Amino acid sequence: MNKKLVLLFAAAALLALSAPAQNNAQKHPKAPKSLRVYVFDCGMIKGLDPFTTFHLKKEELAGVDFVVPCYLIAGPKGTLMWDVGVVPDSAFKPDGSPVSQGNPPVSITATKPLLPQLAAIGYTPADITYLALSHYHSDHTANANAFAGSTWLVHQTERDPMFADKAAGIMQQSSFSSLKNSKTKILPETDYDVFGDGSAIIKYAPGHTPGHQVLLLNLKKTGPVLIAGDLYHYPEERFTDKTPTFEFSHEQSLASRKAIEDFLKKSKAQLWIEHDLATFNKLKKAPQFYE
Ligand SMILES: [Zn+2]
Repeated sequence: MNKKLVLLFAAAALLALSAPAQNNAQKHPKAPKSLRVYVFDCGMIKGLDPFTTFHLKKEELAGVDFVVPCYLIAGPKGTLMWDVGVVPDSAFKPDGSPVSQGNPPVSITATKPLLPQLAAIGYTPADITYLALSHYHSDHTANANAFAGSTWLVHQTERDPMFADKAAGIMQQSSFSSLKNSKTKILPETDYDVFGDGSAIIKYAPGHTPGHQVLLLNLKKTGPVLIAGDLYHYPEERFTDKTPTFEFSHEQSLASRKAIEDFLKKSKAQLWIEHDLATFNKLKKAPQFYE
């Protein structure tokens, strides 16, 4: 066999070897038979002063520090990313060492980037049908640009200030700038059925921000779960009229809280306050899931 032919065979063999690998990489993970939710650890916020920001004294609270979870919801009809962290994956060094940010006394830390956590259960951003953020504050949007290829589910009241010339409040516009050109579904200011089968419902709960939203999951084994965004930050805020000092509308928040509390009573849904460390610590984390 002459040299050229040998090279040609070698190249063909290489191609044959690499082709299946490529196909695998492009294959979407198998859709589960019923809805499930994975909880990821997307960092911590420490050193907050709960009194100046939340009108709650340290002694009134079981814990002051915030945890920052991210969630993947996967069902027979698609996938939804809900909230995407406080530290962008790009802030991690290649060695994966923990990231520490924030202005003293507040410290923001994360030990795991988000996309590798998704990859560990078989998902890439290309597998994510929908992206929804509970709201635009920077502790919920850090990796939003990674999901610009998904369909963004947002209320007009939330989207408008996100792309205003001047950032309003606690917002990192660069973290979600790519969403500007994303396929976008503007949600009605009422319940929105994400997959069209009643399994995941986004509820309009404005006040914390102009288009703040919460997520109801109707899980077959676990029962209904309400992921509450920042409707509350601490369980101790429930049944008080205290809202954060940086609230967009105190009145709207109280009205949204009333509507959600009424719903919780009626539905017996579990309430997952996202930043509540006690709730988070009790939950199963990915690769485990609730279904
Ligand atoms: Zn938050």
